[in-house]
Amino acid sequence: MKAVVVEDVGRIVVRDVPEPSAGGRALIRIERAGLCGTDLKIVSGAIPVDHPLVIGHEMIGRVVSEGPARSIPAGTRVLVDPGEECGRCSMCRADHGYLCSTGALRGRDVDGGFAELMAVDENRLHPVPDSVGLDEAAVLQVLATCVHAQTLVDVFPGQSAVVVGLGVAGLLHVQLLKARGVTDVVGVTRSAWKRELALRLGAVAVATPEEAPGVVTEWTGSDGPDLVVEAAGQAATLRQSIELAGATGTVLVFGTVPGTAELPTYQWYFKELTIVNSRAARPRDYARAVQLAAGAQIQLSRLVTGRFPLADAAEAFDACRSGDHLKVMLTMT
Ligand SMILES: [Zn+2]
Ligand SMILES: [Zn+2]
Repeated sequence: MKAVVVEDVGRIVVRDVPEPSAGGRALIRIERAGLCGTDLKIVSGAIPVDHPLVIGHEMIGRVVSEGPARSIPAGTRVLVDPGEECGRCSMCRADHGYLCSTGALRGRDVDGGFAELMAVDENRLHPVPDSVGLDEAAVLQVLATCVHAQTLVDVFPGQSAVVVGLGVAGLLHVQLLKARGVTDVVGVTRSAWKRELALRLGAVAVATPEEAPGVVTEWTGSDGPDLVVEAAGQAATLRQSIELAGATGTVLVFGTVPGTAELPTYQWYFKELTIVNSRAARPRDYARAVQLAAGAQIQLSRLVTGRFPLADAAEAFDACRSGDHLKVMLTMT
């Protein structure tokens, strides 16, 4: 079967790899797979991996052959939870399986899903009703990680929030915050069309990074926002998130900032900030993401801007890198 393989730092190819054997797992025919910043960091070497690696961690597909428990019938469309866990370590036993000490992320630590077929443990699969469109379904993995992040912070109606970075994750956080009753959500990005889209998806105001301090003060007053969500995964945006947060506020670090970064650490102390990190998602976050999409509570279709056949994966990565897109996806069917 064909798969997208990272052969070395900076080098991706589409080539034949052996088909996976089910071996006690369900076999999934992948229909759509989304690219994201994590994939770009894996290809560039910012996130180190063992080569060669079949990349890809945002997949939906249909069950071709059931797993041994027959919990999900063949033909069912499923969202793949790309996490793997041992089920026995202290993290797994404490309901933190997504932080398993010997766990793995498909497409980073072990082969992933930019491929035609994938063998997946049945308990990592979440049925997606056919009422959710194919493209929308392919954004559900990201939505699940955003849902997970939001479960780590308390917000109340009437509070204010800022989302720094308005890519797919940022635009999902804007919508989730609105759905949770946060009235004033301000979005920050350099991209004019992403600012425009954020306004249509519920942001009360938008700003470039340079305009952000002024615009945020205009909406939140001198107290500043209760919550800032960092959703770009850059040192500069993390820095700005800490600077924008109001005294006693919370910074939710959703983006992944690899390596070490120079940060305004004195402000953590001076404003008595709470810094919350989120990673991956729990099974129930995946289930909630499916529920939100099925109930049309979160708009997903406008977030998909690029579709490329698996064979054109290199072009898909270029599109993702360009910054001109939201979700870029590979289409296998
Ligand atoms: Zn991703
Ligand atoms: Zn474990």
